[in-house]
Parts: sequence; C-alpha cells; structure tokens
Amino acid sequence: MGVINVLDKHVAELIAAGEVVERPASAIKELIENSIDAGSDNITVEIQNGGITFMRVTDNGCGIMRDDVKLAFLPHATSKIMLENDLESIATLGFRGEALASISSVSKLQLLTCHKSENIGTSYEIDGGEEISLTDAGCPKGTTIIVRDLFYNIPARMKFLKKDRAEGNAVANVIDKIALSHPEIAFTFIRDGKRVLNTSGDNKIKSAIYSVYGRDFANGLIPVNYELDGIKVQGYISLPINARPNRGMQNFFINGRYVKSGTASAAIEEACKGSVMVGKFPACVLHISVPFEAIDVNVHPSKIQVRFINERPIFDAVYHAVKTSLNSGDKRKEITFDGQKRDDAFSEIRRPKPFVTAPASFEKSVPAAQSEPINPFAELNKINNKPVNSVLKASVSDIDSNPFDVYSKEAIKREEKIEKVINENKKPDVPVDTSIVSPELPETPEPEPLYKQPSNKLVFVGEAFKTYIIVEKNDKEIVIIDKHAAHERMIYERLKKERGAGFSQVLLHPVTVLLNKNDYEAAISNLDMFTECAFDVEDFGSGTLIVRAAPQYLDIDDIESSVIEMAGYIAQNKTDIRSEKMDWIYHNVACRSAIKGGNISTREELIDIANKLDEDPTLRYCPHGRPVCVVMSRYELEKQFGRIQ
Ligand code: ADP
Ligand code: MG
Repeated sequence: MGVINVLDKHVAELIAAGEVVERPASAIKELIENSIDAGSDNITVEIQNGGITFMRVTDNGCGIMRDDVKLAFLPHATSKIMLENDLESIATLGFRGEALASISSVSKLQLLTCHKSENIGTSYEIDGGEEISLTDAGCPKGTTIIVRDLFYNIPARMKFLKKDRAEGNAVANVIDKIALSHPEIAFTFIRDGKRVLNTSGDNKIKSAIYSVYGRDFANGLIPVNYELDGIKVQGYISLPINARPNRGMQNFFINGRYVKSGTASAAIEEACKGSVMVGKFPACVLHISVPFEAIDVNVHPSKIQVRFINERPIFDAVYHAVKTSLNSGDKRKEITFDGQKRDDAFSEIRRPKPFVTAPASFEKSVPAAQSEPINPFAELNKINNKPVNSVLKASVSDIDSNPFDVYSKEAIKREEKIEKVINENKKPDVPVDTSIVSPELPETPEPEPLYKQPSNKLVFVGEAFKTYIIVEKNDKEIVIIDKHAAHERMIYERLKKERGAGFSQVLLHPVTVLLNKNDYEAAISNLDMFTECAFDVEDFGSGTLIVRAAPQYLDIDDIESSVIEMAGYIAQNKTDIRSEKMDWIYHNVACRSAIKGGNISTREELIDIANKLDEDPTLRYCPHGRPVCVVMSRYELEKQFGRIQ
C-alpha cells in the first residue's frame, strides 16, 4: 500500500495557518493591514494576555457586504486581485486571501461588520474553521474582528508561544511600526485594559514618532524630503549627535510597508559618515515610495524583507536624501503627507481596489513634488530637485560648514580646550629629549621614582602619541604600556571581582534612556545585570529607564549609549548563560570607561596605571586579548646602538 495521503481540508488549513499566523503579533499585523486596505482612518487594537486569549481590531473602514462575509473566510478569497497581471501592480497590503481563513482555523473568531452600502450589520462566528452562526447585528460602519484563544486547537503550536509579556511586546512592536507608516490613521492600542499608544492621525510623521518614541526622540530629528528619479524619500533622521548604538531605531517603509532593507541602512550610514561617530548608527523613520513594479514584496512570507528589482536607485535616493538634509540642517519643517492631493504610492494604498491601475513605469516616472503649490516642502524640494551632480558637489563642499557635523566640531573644541589648559599649566606630559621635540617646551622635570615594590624601581619617562606610557624599570628595561588596554583590563577585573559594588558613582542629574520595546523589556527584566556592572538603573515607564548611578570614569555622554547597547545585547542574546552575558557586559563597560588612546591624560593618571600594572603581573592582556604592554630590554637597546657586541 502506498504511503502518500492527500491531506484533508482541515489539516491543510492548519498547515497554511501556521505559515501566516505564527503568534498573536502576526495575526494582529494581518488584521490591521486589512483595516488599512479597507480605507480606515481610525483603528483600535485591544489585547489581553499578550493577545493569546483575546485580540480585537476595530476599524471604520468600508466594511464587508453580507454576501461577502463567508467568502472572506475561504482560503484564497480576496477582493484585492483577480488576474495574474494584478500581482505586478498590487498596491494594497494584503492580497493572498489567506489571513482570515488562517486565523479563523486556529482560534475562536467573531466578525462584526457593516458595509457602507448596507443598513444592517452582520455578526459571523467561526471556531477552528467551523462556522457557528451568521446573524444580523447592530453595529457602526466598519469592521471589528475578535480573536479568542489563539491555537486552542493546536497544542503543539501553543507551546511555542512565549510568555504573555513577550507576545504582548511583539504585538506592540507591530503596532508601532504600522503607526509610524500610517500617520494619516489614528491608532489606539489598549493592552490589558491600559491604553499604551495613541496616535493622532493628523498625517504628520512627526506626530506619529512623538507618540511612538516619545518627546525627546521626536525633538532631535532632522526632516528628510527628497525625490530622485521617481523615488521619493520622506521622513526624519536623527541628529548625528543622537545616533544610537545599534540599528534598532532605523525604520524604513517602502510604499507604506515596514521593511528591513540593508540597502537603505547602508545608504543612510554612508550619508552620515563623518557626522556620526564610528560604531554608532543614525536612527530614522523614512518612507520611501517607489513605483510598485520596482519591488518584489512577495519574497518573504511575512513580507518584511523586500527585494528591489534594482537596488542602486534606492541607495542613491536615500543617500542623497539624507545627505541633503544633513547639509541643510533645517529643523523647523514638518513632514506631512497630503493624502488627498498626492498622486503617489501612499494615496494608492489607502483605498482598497479590486483592480489596481498600473502606475507609471519605473523609468518613466517623473518628479511630482516640485510642481505642487500646496507642498509645504516646495522650498526644500527646490534644492532637492537639483541634478544629482550638483547635489553631490554641494554635499562635498558643504561638509566643513555643516552645523550638524557635531562630532568633529566638538572634538576640535575639546582638543583646543585641553591644549589651552595644558599650556596654562605648563606641565609637560612628554618629558623626553626636549631639544628634539620642541625647543619651546619647558625644561624636563626630574624623572619621578615610583617605589611601589622593593623589587621594582619604576621611573616615569613620559607618554608617546597620547597613547603609550613609557616607563623605565629597574634600570634594566623600558616598558611601553598601552594606556587604554591597561586601564580597560583593570576596570574589567575590578568589576568582575566586586560585581559592580564600590565602582559606582551617583549622578548629579539622573539620565533617562529611551529604548525600543524589545530592549526595554529585556532591560527591565534584568535590572540586576546593570547593578552588577556598577549602574543604578530603574524602570521609568513607557519604554524609558532612569539611570541614577554609573560606573566611575564613564563619561556622562556615554551613559545613554552604554545602557542602550547593554539592553540591546541582553535582548538579543536571550539564550546565553548569565555568566557569559555578564562577561560581555563587563568588557563593554570596561572598554567605554577606560581612558582612550589619543586623548590627553594627566600625568597622575598615567603614573597610576603604570603602578597598578606593575603591582599585578597577571594583567598582561586587555579583555580582548591584545597585549597591555611590551618590554624592551636595555641590553637589546644597547645592542641596537652598537654599545655592546
Ligand atoms: P487579503 O487581505 O489577502 O485579501 P484576507 O483573508 O486578509 O485576505 O481578507 C479577505 C477579504 O476580506 C479581503 O480581501 C477583504 O475584502 C475582506 N476584509 C478583511 N478584513 C476587512 C476589513 N477590516 N474591512 C473590510 N474588508 C475586509
Ligand atoms: Mg489581508
């Protein structure tokens, strides 16, 4: 007897459901996308227990006609495409016709809907794919879908769900992204009876950012509004000084859909090069509109990955958009979408259409914004619509005068200040042969003997390249110490030994740190990890932590990024064992707190490092495994100079 069975309808549905509905967040995403496709401008989402026991999405969209209600729950039932050709020009968010069929086969679902052309609403109940009832219902125009007990009939899948809180966070994340992608829609999100998000729907991206990420974040942004060869880039990018330690706040939306795009990330990072410190990443909320046939959204089942037919134009548009904004540095302008008047991708997606007319082709599409008198960015666009070459030229020559190039400016100012202090004190840090280095330097002070151990006589010679401490040891050796590596190793050892105690310094002004939902959740469940590396961190509510104490030596300006980085790490490496995680954190804090090569240190600091290193012969490598010091013997030196044979 053969072994191949044709799966019955129910099993096939369950398998299909698994692909579309992985967890509450994926169901919510599908439901909200349906509401958006239905032309809603007000959408409320409510969940309980992370969405596992209860999810409700209510919209004021077009509703579903009584005759269509049952059809909507059949697999491959959709009002959004009819013919194969439509696939190429699809403008709506969903089109596979799978979501309602899938969700209803793995939950207890109730639909309440009233189509705009009908007077009486419909209530439809369906449990595990089996119809329960279809009745009249008095309800407002629009649609409400209630989903209870997700996966109640698939215990295996139920097991894969995380704790309520984690599932709830995933839902919150989905809603955040969708709210950012549709500033023209007012979103409300109620979690376990508490309203946690409310966007105004005033069509301003900044208002949506404000609601999602908070005031501080919203205030440190530069608008972006640009168009190149038919590709529009609009939104906001963080001021270089507000760059983040990871890419968690880089949000890209292509034609209204949240996507992960390596190309767009690379483009903004390239554009910010020189303005943003190495190792930091600009944050952004950027809407990119491209002709629909230029992208293949069907690549990934969750449609988060996007594939462009040609990546280059996207890179160029995003790059020039960001570069232009950084150079113009205009903070006042607000980016709004004029949904009524705009004739582009965004207005297309707002209305569901059974047939979508093909938009202008990729090559032929023409810049539109320039000719619109109502466009609030007309002025900005005048600059933006310059030919690419002139934009490029402008950006290169303007770099020096860029007011947002804070990093280099600050660095210069700091250097100048330090130089001034040094000159005033007339206390040389490099007491080597002064006749060679500079005749103006004051005379060399007597070498300082540092008798720490009877066996080792250390003499501080000086510092080379603001990085290497030079010490004579026992008249026999020259020890050259990498000041950063040595200091880092010492801090690391101390943190590890004392578990943060005694290494913490109370801050005069506590620092608040805004985190994305995932990182925030990870951080507040692991506050003890912060304590163990000398931070005093508390939950401050709404995605924010408050830092009251931080490790000694850690620059006040580094506290925020340090905490963000740690939270990101904790969130990402959930499966690591705790001691491994702590080790990474110790490394990280030690590295950030240690004095930096290239920075000016006081003579006392340098002597202190040399002494401590001498006292503990185990400190020979930095936590990354680089040597902390190199030793050159007097014998070798004398041999080099031919003093001895
Ligand atoms: P798809 O969105 O891919 O078409 P779904 O299973 O998500 O498939 O939805 C099936 C159909 O049900 C949609 O094409 C649409 O016509 C209708 N529909 C679903 N949700 C809504 C809603 N909130 N408002 C109006 N119509 C809806
Ligand atoms: Mg859908």
